[in-house]
Amino acid sequence: MEYIKSKVRDVVDFPRKGVVFKDLTTVFKDPRALHTIGWDLSEAYRNKGVTKVVGIESRGFIGGSILAFELGAGFVPVRKPGKLPADTLKASYEKEYGVDEIEIHRDAITEDDIVVLHDDVLATGGTMLAAYNLVKSMNPKKIYINFIIELSALNGRELLPKDVEVKSLITY
Ligand code: AMP
Repeated sequence: MEYIKSKVRDVVDFPRKGVVFKDLTTVFKDPRALHTIGWDLSEAYRNKGVTKVVGIESRGFIGGSILAFELGAGFVPVRKPGKLPADTLKASYEKEYGVDEIEIHRDAITEDDIVVLHDDVLATGGTMLAAYNLVKSMNPKKIYINFIIELSALNGRELLPKDVEVKSLITY
């Protein structure tokens, strides 16, 4: 874990002044860190019968795909509006400036699925809560939530449902 942590790059004042952006491209480009991420992300779910990993656009696609591959599960993208080609379900959520929307294919999840929801960073939690609500509305058997990084000062965990297991590899 210390090795992965050592590869995370802090970018000050990105995308705007006052934000310290946790850049994971420096983790993903490092072969040893990428390999370790695959193992560490999947460890907690190996015996849980996970059938689908849902990754949130766009940085959640990288860890989410690795996680799905490691678990022998399928991968499902949650995307920004207008990107998915077939019939979708939508959820709106509050951002710092205005409202945003995300979508998932209506046939992506079934009631037989056991799902891990993945994003790279947990900040305020708004994005993940919206993704959770989308997946929950499709009634899967079970939902887990997973991040590479959690920014604990922003209390995103508090926004997420209390009865859902939330795991992060690295907490700041
Ligand atoms: P949230 O505030 O939890 O809804 O975060 C929204 C999205 O922005 C997440 O998908 C993160 O990938 C990204 N994000 C927010 N804050 C940061 C940060 N400080 N560093 C890197 N990514 C961030």
